[in-house]
Amino acid sequence: MSQDKSSDLRNDAVLDAPQLGDGPFEAPFRSPVKPAQLTLDDTIQFHCHKGIACFNECCKSIEIQLTPYDILRLKRRFDISSKEFVARYTMPFEMDHHGMPGLKLTTQPGTSACIFLEQEGCGVYEDRPAACRYYALGAMGVRKKDAGSVEDVYFLVKEAHCLGHDEPRQLTVREYRQEQGVEVYDEMNQDWRDIVIKKRTSGPTVGQPSARSMQLFDMCSYDLDSFREFVQSDGFRLIFDIDQETTDKLINEDEELLRFAMRFLKQVLYGEHTIPLKEGARDKRLDERGDVLKARREADIAAHKGKEGFEDYMPD
Ligand code: SF4
Ligand code: SF4
Repeated sequence: MSQDKSSDLRNDAVLDAPQLGDGPFEAPFRSPVKPAQLTLDDTIQFHCHKGIACFNECCKSIEIQLTPYDILRLKRRFDISSKEFVARYTMPFEMDHHGMPGLKLTTQPGTSACIFLEQEGCGVYEDRPAACRYYALGAMGVRKKDAGSVEDVYFLVKEAHCLGHDEPRQLTVREYRQEQGVEVYDEMNQDWRDIVIKKRTSGPTVGQPSARSMQLFDMCSYDLDSFREFVQSDGFRLIFDIDQETTDKLINEDEELLRFAMRFLKQVLYGEHTIPLKEGARDKRLDERGDVLKARREADIAAHKGKEGFEDYMPD
């Protein structure tokens, strides 16, 4: 099988009992034989290093789904805007049947090799995506029956071309995660993962999302620089009660801005109010923007079956 590093992305399922292969991302493992589930303290045998005979093989045929934090790290590495990064290095795809936008890492022209693959190895190693860090470990969140919380389980993805499994090094899943630096990626992507799961698992009860809610998801997830401009816009300041110190922090600190973007998405998509609104500002804005906005808002409310209209928050 060709290397599918999307299998390394965290996958999530809401299940009666632990089970693998159903989540917001690609199913991690299509084999009828289910791999053994591992906890953080279980030991695995795996070592990937320069000099191994299969070096670079896994990057020659890729399917890598990108997360918001992957894009932040990579666009900062190249010192380009998020829009420019997306245009140059990604390919769009739909994450679900309702058109939830996703991005995959692009490949070198005429091949399926990663755009960042070089003779010496990964050209962006320090900022490689979460999927690359996880490999050859798969991970998914499982909600057990009658349990409110999601529990992470892990498993090894074994592919014929990958010789790392034959290397005589043993370490725990916890140690492997630390070694590969996945913890900060998981922490930064946690809210986004929650949003995707909620959308995926709520299904028809939420209704078909409108095009504008998908635009909003797209901006918050993959175009942080546009979201930064939005936070500084008059329209945003008219609606949200954010002090100057917080605004300055959002403008100057990428990680803070990304966390805030996820809070914003949860507020406008799911009505989780964590960002204070200015008294009466929404009504005033609706009055000012008149009939067109009202008509659009009604259409969105209809699409969301009564859920809060994100239209109120969109930039003009
Ligand atoms: S980003 Fe690096 S590690 Fe990931 S597939 Fe591309 S070359 Fe390989
Ligand atoms: S050991 Fe596996 S992960 Fe490492 S280079 Fe070889 S194929 Fe890729």
